[in-house]
Amino acid sequence: MNKRVRVRFAPSPTGGLHLGGVRTVLFNYLFAKKHGGDFILRIEDTDQTRFVPGAEEYIIQTLNWCGMTPDESPVVGGPYAPYRQSERKENYKQYATQLIEAGHAYYAFDTPAEIEEMRNHFKTPENPSPQYNHAVRAKMRNSLSLDAAEVAALLEAGTPYVVRIKMPDNEEVSFTDMIRGEVSFNTSQVDDKVLLKADGMPTYHLAVVVDDYLMKISHAFRGEEWLPSAPVHLLLWKYLGWISDMPQWAHLPLILKPDGHGKLSKRDGDRLGFPVFAMDWTDPKTNEKAIGFKERGFLPEAFVNLLAVLGWNDGTDQEIFSMAELIEKFSIDRVHKGGAKFDYEKAKWFNAEWIKNADNAYLAGLVQPYFDEAGIKAQDQTYLEKIIGITKERCILLPDFVTQAGFYFTAPTQIDTASIAPKWDDNKKNFFEALCVAFENSNSNDHTILENIFKELTATHGLKPGELMLPMRIMLVGGKFGPAVFEIAATIGISDAVARIKYALQLLNA
Ligand code: GLU
Repeated sequence: MNKRVRVRFAPSPTGGLHLGGVRTVLFNYLFAKKHGGDFILRIEDTDQTRFVPGAEEYIIQTLNWCGMTPDESPVVGGPYAPYRQSERKENYKQYATQLIEAGHAYYAFDTPAEIEEMRNHFKTPENPSPQYNHAVRAKMRNSLSLDAAEVAALLEAGTPYVVRIKMPDNEEVSFTDMIRGEVSFNTSQVDDKVLLKADGMPTYHLAVVVDDYLMKISHAFRGEEWLPSAPVHLLLWKYLGWISDMPQWAHLPLILKPDGHGKLSKRDGDRLGFPVFAMDWTDPKTNEKAIGFKERGFLPEAFVNLLAVLGWNDGTDQEIFSMAELIEKFSIDRVHKGGAKFDYEKAKWFNAEWIKNADNAYLAGLVQPYFDEAGIKAQDQTYLEKIIGITKERCILLPDFVTQAGFYFTAPTQIDTASIAPKWDDNKKNFFEALCVAFENSNSNDHTILENIFKELTATHGLKPGELMLPMRIMLVGGKFGPAVFEIAATIGISDAVARIKYALQLLNA
């Protein structure tokens, strides 16, 4: 590669980040880091009508959470600042003018009502919404159809106008996509897109080309929904005289619904009960809330890992990859052309794997907020880490630690006595009372000793250990879960264990 690798994630701040958006960031990021290049965040906020407060902050927080902090961004700045297109407004007009002067763009004075009238006039059953294109432009009010004096007068009078690209009629344009190979378009299929709006703001089409050029972007990876815009962008690169600097493009395949039919949407998540957004997002206009992977209890490492393998693999069966490994192994050639089905069960599997292998101190920090929320006080850091270590194999999502580990810190308030009651009798009651005495006398926190005491006592009472283990588990933890029961007793300490058994006995005898 002769050019310095510079890639950008260029979101419009219109809402929360969907899985597909984060995967786009990830592939950009991996490519940049693999090639020792720069990863840039550029906020494409030229469409003020779609601006959503809080969306930019959300995007930045999501990137940080995933460990993909940009080298240049509105936050840290950089050599090509500003990185918000709304703050670069002055840059674009000159290029629109340059295009007009070269005959590749034109002023269009049509009012929305006139455009509506054109649509009504030309619509047919096959073409219900005719576009402003080569076929109709001569019949509209623009600098191609009006004579020069009239155009000058309109401009002089301050008549509102937009600048449109003049798409050539029936020309083939093509480019080589890094994932799809050669892609070609006939220009007659594409309308005369607006480049500069009446408020002087560029549209996405002009701004993306100008900024990719000015910011020296070498590769642009974006979602496949942008493929239809590629011919417009390609011609702009050409008409502006920059074609040899055009970034190499890769249009990334969609993330599909679990059944493979169509693009995964937030609605699918709501319907099937899983997150589609990276982090919780509340739409400030509708107050509609979307749950996030983060708040559901995914580790960022797992989230990144599961996204990476949605549409990419390294050619082996390996599934678990750290960011460092992804950077080393990622290659755009191994990104599939077809869409990747999203499987939430598989996503959870990734998380469970990452939890199982994560450092206890690291997990302790992540679990703390869930404990705080559940009112579980885990002040002793060494003990907390020990408990995390004992229970992490049983946790799929971070909130699972509340159930799987909470009882090590606080005696359960809810005891599932209903599961004990049907087989409860005086013999068992006598056994547990004797067990409390024997445990107290032992004053031991050694699980083997406790287990031996328990077993000897079952024999004395003519009972089988098997029928007493489950009641004891429920007494200690509140329900039918947790690791080996004597280990639980030894870990919480014998006096605490005895107190829990006594409390449960009271409930059962009540
Ligand atoms: N602003 C576009 C978006 O919202 C960026 C598309 C591109 O990367 O060119 O996704």
